[in-house]
Amino acid sequence: MHKTNTGSMVLATASQAPRGEFLSKRARALKVSPTIAMSQRAGEMRADGIDVVNLSVGEPDTPTPMRIVDAAHEAAKKGHTRYTAPDGHQRVKQAVQTKLLRDNKLAYDLNQIGVVSGCKQAIFNALAATIDVGDEVVLIAPYWVSYADMVTYHGGTPVVVTAKQEDGFLPDIRDIAAALTPRTKWVLLNSPNNPTGAVYPCALLRQIGDLLAQHPDVMVLSDEIYEHLTYDGAEFVSFASALPDLKDRILLVNGASKAYSMTGWRVGFAAGPAWLIGAMARVQSQAAGSSNMIAQFAAVEAMEGDQSDLQVNRQVLKRRRDTAIQILSKCTRLGVCPLGGAFYIFADIHKCLGLSTADGRVIKTDSQMSDFLLDQAHVATVPGVEFGCSPYIRLSFAVDDDDLTRACNAIVAACNSLKLPDGADQI
Ligand code: GLU
Repeated sequence: MHKTNTGSMVLATASQAPRGEFLSKRARALKVSPTIAMSQRAGEMRADGIDVVNLSVGEPDTPTPMRIVDAAHEAAKKGHTRYTAPDGHQRVKQAVQTKLLRDNKLAYDLNQIGVVSGCKQAIFNALAATIDVGDEVVLIAPYWVSYADMVTYHGGTPVVVTAKQEDGFLPDIRDIAAALTPRTKWVLLNSPNNPTGAVYPCALLRQIGDLLAQHPDVMVLSDEIYEHLTYDGAEFVSFASALPDLKDRILLVNGASKAYSMTGWRVGFAAGPAWLIGAMARVQSQAAGSSNMIAQFAAVEAMEGDQSDLQVNRQVLKRRRDTAIQILSKCTRLGVCPLGGAFYIFADIHKCLGLSTADGRVIKTDSQMSDFLLDQAHVATVPGVEFGCSPYIRLSFAVDDDDLTRACNAIVAACNSLKLPDGADQI
C-alpha cells in the first residue's frame, strides 16, 4: 500500500503494480490541484472522527437557490437530458448574452459565447486551443493554483509577475511590460482575485490596455468568476468593458459556481472572438462532447431569474470576512488585511517562520505552517506557495459563521503556541 499525494490510500497488488512509466510525461508532472488535495485531506480526517473545519477549497456553503433547483427539475422533466452543442445549448448561450449585456454592458453574438463545465474548463480549453510548446503566459502572483499547472500541462511556460502586498496585491504595470516577450500569448488576469481578494481598479485595467495596445499579438484571459463578490464599495469592472477597443483580444471567463452557489453543477462560460470560441468548442467536442444539459438549463434560471440573492450573499460574506479579520488580527504573528472581493483571506505568516511547535518541529515554510494548522488547530488551509507567493496561507471565509469563528480562534491559539526554538535568542 502506498500513500498518494492526496493522502488517500491506494492498494498496489502484483497485477496492479504502479506503472508510472506508462503515464505520459505531462501526466507524471501534474500534481493534484492543491485546493482539492487539501480538501480531501480534511475529509479523510473527518472520516476518522476528527472535527476539522475546512477553509481550504473555495466554495459557498449556502445551498443553491430553490428557484434554480426547480428549474433543473423542470428541465429534466421536459426532456432536456441530452447532448447539447459542444459550446452549449442555444438557450443557455442566450442567457449568458443577456447577463453580459445587463451586468457588464458587453454585447456578444451567440457564436462568441461558449458554455462548458465550469470556468476552470473554459480556461483549460482556451489554453488547449492556443498553447504550443514554448509559448509564454504571463501570470500575476499570487495566482489561482491551477493556472501555472494548466499552462505547463499544455507545453507552455508561465512567466510570473509578482503583485506585492504593500501595493494591495495589484501588479505594477512596469513589471507586466518587462514580462512580455515575442513568445507571450496570453496575459492571464483575475479580478476579484483568488487568493488575495484584490479588485483591479479601472485605471489599472486601462494601463494594462495601453500596454497591450503596443503588443498586438498578445491576448488577455480575464477570469471574472468572483465578479459578484465585492465589498466595501469596491467596484468590479470587466476588463472588456474598461477596454472596448481591445474586446476582440479578450477572452472573458466566468460562471455560475460562486455567485449562485452552484459549484457542483459545473457551469462556466467564455466570451470572446468567434474564431477562438470555435476552436475551444472543437476541443470540447473531442474531450467531453458537451457540458450537462440539465445544469445548463438551471444556469439559465440563475442568470435570468431574480438576482436579489446576490446582494444577500454579499452581505453574509462581508460579515464573515469581518469576523475572520477581527479574530485573526488579534494575533500579532499573522498579517491580515481585508481586501475588496472574493471570499479569501491571504494571511502573511512570515512572523511564524523559524518558530517551533510543541513537539520540536521548526516551521520553515508556509506548507509546513498549513500542515501544522491542520494537525494542531484542525483547520484546513492552502499554503501560499501553491499560489506562487510565500509565506502566506489562504483561508476561505465562505463557511458557516460558527465554524469560521471556531477555526479562526483555533488558528490564533495554534500560532500563539509556537515558541522560539531551543537555544535561539531571537528570530
Ligand atoms: N476556485 C476554488 C478554489 O480556489 C475551487 C477549487 C478549485 O477548483 O481549485 O478553492
